Amino acid sequence: MGETVSTNFIHNIIEKDLESHKYGDKVITRFPPEPNGYLHIGHAKSITLNFTTAMKYGGTCNLRYDDTNPVKEDVEYVDSIEEDVKWLGFQWDKRLWASEYFEKMYEAAVELIKKGKAYVDDLTPEQMKEYRGTLKEPGKESPCRNQSVEENLKLFEEMRAGKYADGERVLRAKIDMASPNINMRDPIIYRIAHITHHNTGDKWCIYPMYDFAHPIEDAIEGITHSICTLEFEDHRPLYDWVLREVGWWETPPQQIEFARLDLTNTVMSKRYLKALVDDAVVEGWDDPRMPTIAGLRRRGYTPEAIRDFCERIGVSKANSKVEVSLLEHCVREDLQEKVGNRNVIEKPIKVVITNYPEDKSEMITIENHNKIPEMGTRQVPFSRELYIDGDDFMEVPAKKYFRMFPGNEVRFKGAYFIKCNEVVKNEDGSIKELLCTYDPESRGGESPDGRKVKGTIHWVDAKTAVKIRIRNYDYLMIPDEEGNNQLNPNSVEDTWGYGEPLLAEAQPGERFQFFRHGYYVADSKLTTDDEKVFNRIVGLKSSWKPAK
Ligand code: ATP
Ligand code: MG
Repeated sequence: MGETVSTNFIHNIIEKDLESHKYGDKVITRFPPEPNGYLHIGHAKSITLNFTTAMKYGGTCNLRYDDTNPVKEDVEYVDSIEEDVKWLGFQWDKRLWASEYFEKMYEAAVELIKKGKAYVDDLTPEQMKEYRGTLKEPGKESPCRNQSVEENLKLFEEMRAGKYADGERVLRAKIDMASPNINMRDPIIYRIAHITHHNTGDKWCIYPMYDFAHPIEDAIEGITHSICTLEFEDHRPLYDWVLREVGWWETPPQQIEFARLDLTNTVMSKRYLKALVDDAVVEGWDDPRMPTIAGLRRRGYTPEAIRDFCERIGVSKANSKVEVSLLEHCVREDLQEKVGNRNVIEKPIKVVITNYPEDKSEMITIENHNKIPEMGTRQVPFSRELYIDGDDFMEVPAKKYFRMFPGNEVRFKGAYFIKCNEVVKNEDGSIKELLCTYDPESRGGESPDGRKVKGTIHWVDAKTAVKIRIRNYDYLMIPDEEGNNQLNPNSVEDTWGYGEPLLAEAQPGERFQFFRHGYYVADSKLTTDDEKVFNRIVGLKSSWKPAK
């Protein structure tokens, strides 16, 4: 992975600005979350873009909480946002709160009033809607539109002083009621809301609207390029208008829009994700099925994989849906060279090696990684009773089945050639155990005489095996017949398995490839000294195909 995102249209704009010294040689970006939920993989795209863009041009990126909306403080969200940004591998220059600019924003509004560019209106919300017009018809001017500057200043001051109830008056920008862009038809820039703000308390009962506040926040911080998602494209004329008409900044920031990330088999809205948490549909914001950064982290994703994904999807001006299989491909590719394997048996079948001494046990040397010898080896016990995977045995073998079946000899990976002689059943007809014999001459799984076996299977020693909990995850959402995402009722299989003894030492957050099953991580919350709980990060096989 490179240090910077690949060339994209945003970088082209920045390079032109650098050439013309529009902002000198500065590039300052920001990531501006509203602290009303946990960040998701869509935010990761924005974070990666903003931080790597700044890095690429030797600039800086701020973390700015967009807290102009007076909602209840949630320290939990603020903490999680900072943890997530850092975990992704980025460091902000300044950490800022938009609410700290309230006074400055108020002054900017007063400036607009003084310039005859804003007025206090008392239309009701219904009237406001009616006056706004439609896409086909121009709007109507409010009777308040031509109030004197003095009147507007007085009314706005009274709004601030708390003289009016919520909704009784608003401050509007005076732009153009006939504009084909409805956002420019005298938009509201301040509203009254008698709500305690987590940062400013009851100091304010008027709050700036996003379209007025955001450009001012950017300008105060000296942001050069304000990168946001496509739905703000129609708001850009207003962004530019605010900064131009307030007139305090010589070279105002440039807003640039890109397509937001949308991903199959999940949802990408904080509101919806919060509902899943509140309704206990999931274990919490960090449930391993959640598309949140916290969820992906707990699921075992690496920051490298997520950044790689964000770079691969690129930056474009057209909305599209990305296949979740690409995200899975990225983590698989990253883990493939990083984690060692362990033998784990799900749906175990017991194997008894009848010609192996009852009191004997030996250590088998197994490579930690099939392709990377530098990752070393480990010692795994082997004795008379073992477990193999349910999938590695067929009483009546299918065509081209090379693993265990009566009469067949296979290699127990790293150990011996072992032949199945007899199937012992329980009373209910289920398999009790397989009676087998081993060839002592085949130690290490090497053929003693040139005879070949076609199947190699993994195993664990029964006496020393550790029982582990395994959570095999499926998608949180699946499309119904009409292609609309629905909650997947079977998004997790809570099961268990037998693992080789070393797994008893697995630490929370430690990752392994469970041989032939997939990549797993020891759950960071549920794994204790006594109980090991593993989350499936991703299966081994990829369904992702590179575009031709
Ligand atoms: P949500 O709709 O999930 O609540 P939001 O846009 O309201 O998301 P904010 O906290 O306001 O969330 O977003 C912070 C930044 O992240 C914004 O600049 C926003 O454009 C960006 N962002 C949010 N969702 C996505 C996405 N799916 N893809 C790319 N960027 C996103
Ligand atoms: Mg938002």
